[in-house]
Amino acid sequence: MKYKRILLKLSGEALMGNQQYGIDPERLDQYSQEIKKVKDLGVEVAIVIGGGNIYRGVQAEQSGIDRVQGDYMGMLATVINAMALQSTLEKTGMFTRLMSGIKMEQVCEPFIRRRAVRHLEKGRVIIFGAGIGNPYFTTDSTASLRAIEIEADVVLKGTRVDGVYTADPEKDPNATRYSNISFQEVYSRGLNVMDMTAFTLCKENNLPIIVFDMNKPGNLLSLVKGEEVGTLIT
Ligand code: UDP
Repeated sequence: MKYKRILLKLSGEALMGNQQYGIDPERLDQYSQEIKKVKDLGVEVAIVIGGGNIYRGVQAEQSGIDRVQGDYMGMLATVINAMALQSTLEKTGMFTRLMSGIKMEQVCEPFIRRRAVRHLEKGRVIIFGAGIGNPYFTTDSTASLRAIEIEADVVLKGTRVDGVYTADPEKDPNATRYSNISFQEVYSRGLNVMDMTAFTLCKENNLPIIVFDMNKPGNLLSLVKGEEVGTLIT
């Protein structure tokens, strides 16, 4: 296998499946199966999950809620997703730990870097909930930061498009996909991979990112083995 320790970022929206809101149990199941395949190969897996299917901080301002308050609400939303995912992963036959950026002793452990690494070494899948625990960040930034902290080999951004395109493939029929691209080129072409905070963290720490379609069965396994899937940013 090419990658021994991965950080998988899943957006909250992905968990909705074809629903308009909330969590689609079939999608959770499907993701758990995909994660099991790489786990069985001996890969160490850490996951950051978003909360956009439930709540986003930017929504708050529109409804008259203070932005910071909204961001915390968004972080709590990620914990709901993380708990659902944890449960499904365990049902699928994996050992897991949920670590939170906000202390919530009754439902999860606080994030402690050394402990996180230990969990991975013991073969547990870890899920990072509640983002970094600070407002004005995103779960993409959480993915970059935690990946660096635990010395993951790569950040895998699972999305519903199969990589980074020259233009938005859902709008421009002539858009083509990059199989490889440099951090610098993403900047200079103004391409949208992650928010800039998240992206810059990866760049400055030489942490490669792969953007790929998480909904296609087998994709996660293939890319962990080193096959060309999605877009690799280095
Ligand atoms: N959030 C935050 N700090 C963090 C992570 C998340 O404030 O470290 C809040 C932010 O308001 C964000 C929301 O949690 O909008 C949900 O996360 P995100 O939008 O990244 O989820 P995704 O788009 O991946 O579903």
